[in-house]
Amino acid sequence: MANQEQSFKSIVAHCKEYGFIYQSSEVYDGLAAVYDYGPNGVELKNNIKEYWWKAMVQLHDNIVGIDAAIFMHPKTWKASGHVDAFNVPLIDNKDSKKRYRADQLVEEYIEKLENKINKDVAKAKKRFGEAFDETKYLAESPRVVGYQEEKKKVSGQLAQLMTDNDMEGLGKLIVDLDIADPVNGSKNWTDVRQFNLMFSTQLGNIAGEEGKLYLRPETAQGIFVNFLNVQKTTRQKLPFGIAQIGKAFRNEIVARQFIFRMKEFEQMEMQFFIQPGSQADWYQKWKDQRMAWHLALGTSDTKLRFHDHENLAHYADAAVDIQFEFPFGFRELEGIHSRTDFDLASHQELSGRKIQYFDPKTNESYVPYVVETSIGCDRMFLAVLSNALIKEQVPGSDDPNNLREVLKIHPALAPVKCAVLPLKRNDENLVAKAQEVFKKLRPHFNCQYDDTGSIGKLYRRQDAIGTPYCVTVDFESLDDNTVTIRDRDTLQQERIPIDQLQEKIRDRVNMEQLLEKL
Ligand code: ATP
Repeated sequence: MANQEQSFKSIVAHCKEYGFIYQSSEVYDGLAAVYDYGPNGVELKNNIKEYWWKAMVQLHDNIVGIDAAIFMHPKTWKASGHVDAFNVPLIDNKDSKKRYRADQLVEEYIEKLENKINKDVAKAKKRFGEAFDETKYLAESPRVVGYQEEKKKVSGQLAQLMTDNDMEGLGKLIVDLDIADPVNGSKNWTDVRQFNLMFSTQLGNIAGEEGKLYLRPETAQGIFVNFLNVQKTTRQKLPFGIAQIGKAFRNEIVARQFIFRMKEFEQMEMQFFIQPGSQADWYQKWKDQRMAWHLALGTSDTKLRFHDHENLAHYADAAVDIQFEFPFGFRELEGIHSRTDFDLASHQELSGRKIQYFDPKTNESYVPYVVETSIGCDRMFLAVLSNALIKEQVPGSDDPNNLREVLKIHPALAPVKCAVLPLKRNDENLVAKAQEVFKKLRPHFNCQYDDTGSIGKLYRRQDAIGTPYCVTVDFESLDDNTVTIRDRDTLQQERIPIDQLQEKIRDRVNMEQLLEKL
């Protein structure tokens, strides 16, 4: 745990030091759970968005994009169920004065049981060596069986209480499980109460409920209310999808996990409209496609897993998360939800407009069903960063203390693709040549020219932001128009003609190589 915290802290510090992410309004001591992206952060974030957008819109002839407004008619949120049901259960500790989400306190209790099981398994594995049979051990070790039963029981109780909106029961469960405040160990809890996560503001001169506007808590509704517009103007036939990237806002209470949980964040959502009855098939297809999208980045499959929802949201008939192993454990990165016809049917009812699709194959009109994929861009950013940031012994060095910090990010996502560095900064000819190389490359890639330090220091800085290539201009370059190109991961240096640089860099950093894998 201490290690995990350390690694998370170093990611947060790295993000600030290298211009990826800053606390919002830092000069005023910041605003909790709100963050700004710096120069390297915005490049990486844009690359993530580009990868998602192209995988959705460019690779599917039946998916189109939109960009809907953040503000929507207030009735939207009544129809979607957010006004009545987008609540979280809150509990306060009277001694520490800290506020928690009651469901998350119970989830953490369940996670602790899981950790105990994993620890016992790891110990037994070590003890029995080759002869260890994990399945048998899980089924027969009395202690592990006890943990598993407890885990199943508490998970079931939590799911039921959440489905029933039973806040009193949830408070009792926390007391019964003897859950203590993680900060000070106190068990002096308040009652549990519901809290709506939507931010609201007021429309111009209309007072009261009538003029209440919400900042959208998800981008999906902008897609639903535009379903007919898009279907008619693009003449798409079912099945087809609408994709969107945009900001969403949630008044998150517990916000201690950096950009994992923010009040203002970005979602990349795709709603796939289908014939009722075909949802199980499409649900499976989208699960597979989205996992493939993550794996194409080279992320180890041990870091990603599916996690079925135990209590379904009010709109879903099936739901699964793709979880990623963040430094603080496996957590939701993306959701895939079979949303039935809940949203379109609700908008149809509340608006009084017919929102249906005429199916030329069956000659009937119906409200389509929907399977959605929904991923937070910021969470993806954190996943990419925490997966890639490593400290390693410098390749080729025998000294175990010779360490470097390197961001081994997929080159297509790297904020800077190539850095051009003159071997000496105060040699006029070298600087002029390096500038010439830089100007040649910059129309093609996001490049950096840097002559602000010794070459070793400049390399380290580029490693820390994940730049796949450093090009060094030296005295030989002046004579024969060649440069050395250094590979971020292997540290191999190769001497190549300047006019081959573009092709060499493109081969490694292009986004097409990712898309071809899908
Ligand atoms: P959680 O259980 O972690 O609060 P959720 O199940 O409410 O998430 P969804 O409503 O399914 O999340 O939203 C889809 C995606 O949007 C999530 O998988 C996540 O990546 C992202 N997301 C949701 N809330 C936040 C937030 N507060 N900050 C950053 N990303 C978020």
